Amino acid sequence: MKIKRLVLGVLGTNCYIVYDEESKEAFVVDPADSYTQIKSVIDSLGLQVKYVILTHAHSDHIGALDELVSDTAAMVCIGSGDAEALNDGELSLCDYLGSYPPKSKADVIINDGDSLMIGQNTIRFITTPGHTKGSIAIVFDDAVISGDTLFFESIGRTDFATSDTRAIIDSIKNKLYALPRDTKVYPGHGEATSIGHETDNNPFVW
Ligand SMILES: [Zn+2]
Repeated sequence: MKIKRLVLGVLGTNCYIVYDEESKEAFVVDPADSYTQIKSVIDSLGLQVKYVILTHAHSDHIGALDELVSDTAAMVCIGSGDAEALNDGELSLCDYLGSYPPKSKADVIINDGDSLMIGQNTIRFITTPGHTKGSIAIVFDDAVISGDTLFFESIGRTDFATSDTRAIIDSIKNKLYALPRDTKVYPGHGEATSIGHETDNNPFVW
């Protein structure tokens, strides 16, 4: 599958548009902000957006969710532990960052090991609690989209309402580092990395 990355919003959040070239089916990960930019990629490639997948329910990852859903009828997928937070001003940090929580509700609740199809491709989910209790990672081809769990030589903050520092480290060590070393990691903020690079160099995972 092909991946397009857009860096959106004041916190520079990565939005990924992942698509199957043959069928033109696509999923959008973390429609953070600026829907016109997301739409122009969808339209220029002629994509049919089947799913919008949220790595977690924080405000800086969901700013354009309602517009994307009303424009494409994509189904909203979110980890079971974050489904409620999506429409909660406090847990989504929307109150804190001065926005309103989305009106869109979760359509597909993701649990560990669940999978979905995009064209002939299987995309698989891993639950990675820690940054939030319902954080998820998305695995396909030789790639993982890691949300705010694992960054290039860093990890996500764990000072939020449903955060857990031990849990984020265990999620990375036991679940993400279990992926092949050459797996490309596409994080929620910043540049891409690989499982091998992080296993060898990430100072926060112990
Ligand atoms: Zn976050």
